[in-house]
Amino acid sequence: MASVEFQNISKTFGAFVAVPDISFQIADGEFICLLGPSGCGKTTSLRMIAGLETPTSGRVMIGGRDVTYLHPKDRGISMVFQDYALYPHMNIADNIAYPLKVRGEQETKRHARAKEVADVLKIGDLMKRLPSQISGGQQQRTSLARALVYPSEVYLFDEPLSNLDAKLRLEARGFLNHLQRDMGMTAVYVTHDQAEAMALATRIAVMDKGRIVQFAPPIEIYRRPATTFVANFVGNPPMNLVPVEASIGDGALHLRADGLKLAPIALTDAIAKAAKSARMTLGVRPEHLRIAAAGDLNVVSGELFANENMGPESLVTLERGDNGRVTARIFTDDEIKVGTSVHLAFDARHITLFDDSSARIPA
Ligand code: ATP
Repeated sequence: MASVEFQNISKTFGAFVAVPDISFQIADGEFICLLGPSGCGKTTSLRMIAGLETPTSGRVMIGGRDVTYLHPKDRGISMVFQDYALYPHMNIADNIAYPLKVRGEQETKRHARAKEVADVLKIGDLMKRLPSQISGGQQQRTSLARALVYPSEVYLFDEPLSNLDAKLRLEARGFLNHLQRDMGMTAVYVTHDQAEAMALATRIAVMDKGRIVQFAPPIEIYRRPATTFVANFVGNPPMNLVPVEASIGDGALHLRADGLKLAPIALTDAIAKAAKSARMTLGVRPEHLRIAAAGDLNVVSGELFANENMGPESLVTLERGDNGRVTARIFTDDEIKVGTSVHLAFDARHITLFDDSSARIPA
């Protein structure tokens, strides 16, 4: 396994800047997810590691070696694609063994190795079939087996689970998780699915418009999102963000918005500095909201917009007039009717504050 490094990488397509300038280091054995909305530059970044795209400027290092202009086959990488890219005329055994064939491995040996990997991935009994004769989930595992059949320094994944249905996707995710723990592989995994990134990554790079906005372990991204963009992208449903008017009085921060009751917040230097602009955003995760009781100090109120029963829990969304919606993830059997007033409470310790440039104010 090997480390991966981007040194001031940029990539332009004609006049369009897909990646302005990014630098990062991935240590040996890390599983990194590049997470972000469509078009943010995830695939372009991955393809520059693979050697399928050449950077406009900067250097790509793998295992301390400058590979910027090296051919993909000389980089010590394996890649799994979204569409599996299996050879339709080859059976599963030959598909899996293909990387060994191109490296000149003798037939019996390569088939024995292919079978070994296929057994681990539970497709060992499908070796004689063609890709068209197996299911999508099995094709996905074939493509994974092909990537794993030959030891690589770095494994690259481009949305490998996106063509699977929800159940298979969960199963494959669990499998990849297990594999990562078992092999300790260095991997870079592109996804726009935040749950997938949270489940798989040792660190997540959240990307927006070709830049990395936060690069941190999943729990850090979840608990301390660097910006409102990250807060809004990670979590399902995402963090509720309420624009508020900020002022300082009696040595505390006061936040105001329609339908919001909030106890004064203790001042810190960072809060005092951010309050100068008078504009902040209040963030509360859906799981930190509950139906308010008398005496609750922090309450957001509105009319019930939707009450979606998810089985063990409900997603209760209230509408604050023209001021946006707030969603709570709560355990309730109560029948709340659309249009009735709802009051949701939260604890001060679950508040995240963002300044007027959308950056998180350190607690
Ligand atoms: P998705 O999740 O939709 O695959 P992404 O985050 O992987 O998106 P990229 O495929 O890296 O995004 O694309 C980043 C930007 O660069 C996009 O705006 C895309 O249109 C543009 N782009 C990518 N490849 C090319 C190309 N060959 N020529 C011109 N523009 C390109």
